[in-house]
Amino acid sequence: MTDFAVTIRPQPTVPVQGSDRPFPVRRILCVGRNYAAHRREMGGDDRDPPFFFSKPADAVVLPGADVPYPSATSDLHHEIELVVAIGDGGAIFGFAVGVDLTRRDLQNGFKAKGQPWDAAKGFDASAPISAIVRNAGVIPQGRIALSVNGETKQAGEVADMIWSVEEILVEAGKLWKLEAGDLIFTGTPEGVGPLIRGDLVEGSVEGVGALSFRIV
Ligand code: MN
Repeated sequence: MTDFAVTIRPQPTVPVQGSDRPFPVRRILCVGRNYAAHRREMGGDDRDPPFFFSKPADAVVLPGADVPYPSATSDLHHEIELVVAIGDGGAIFGFAVGVDLTRRDLQNGFKAKGQPWDAAKGFDASAPISAIVRNAGVIPQGRIALSVNGETKQAGEVADMIWSVEEILVEAGKLWKLEAGDLIFTGTPEGVGPLIRGDLVEGSVEGVGALSFRIV
């Protein structure tokens, strides 16, 4: 066994519903501006296609865990998203509910300067996620919603995505070879907004499940 120079961090994983075998996360790709109304609320042009950015694999926060309010922001935002989990051979393994946490103040600053989004999107604990459901390969189309302290903030339909799940896989495949362990956050409907310490965030995607976490 190789004796490594520094400590090897544990492999990030996400539980799989109905299984004792967890899903090993390889990387997290995210689709930006994949719902028209959210693209408008972000100041986007209606002709601009969605695009990709990424988060590190160890940004996942497991079901039931609290999310620490991140450093270096005073405008943490929620974005509820359907997540596609990629299995062996690049095929769809299952789906999960995720929240793409965003340091919106940093993102706005980076946009203004044409700088990369990594620190706005790919920070520690920026990807709370539910257990993965296999779903028999059925692609969810129904309601996607998020509430904060019981008040609905985001509500939409997965069917309203600009790039469908199938199209996202095609577009991602032009840029990367999708491999087992990849997670793809597929974008958020309108209604993104701020979170503060103490908030209880509850999200759901019809046919997939739900997640909840508290900001601490
Ligand atoms: Mn997002």
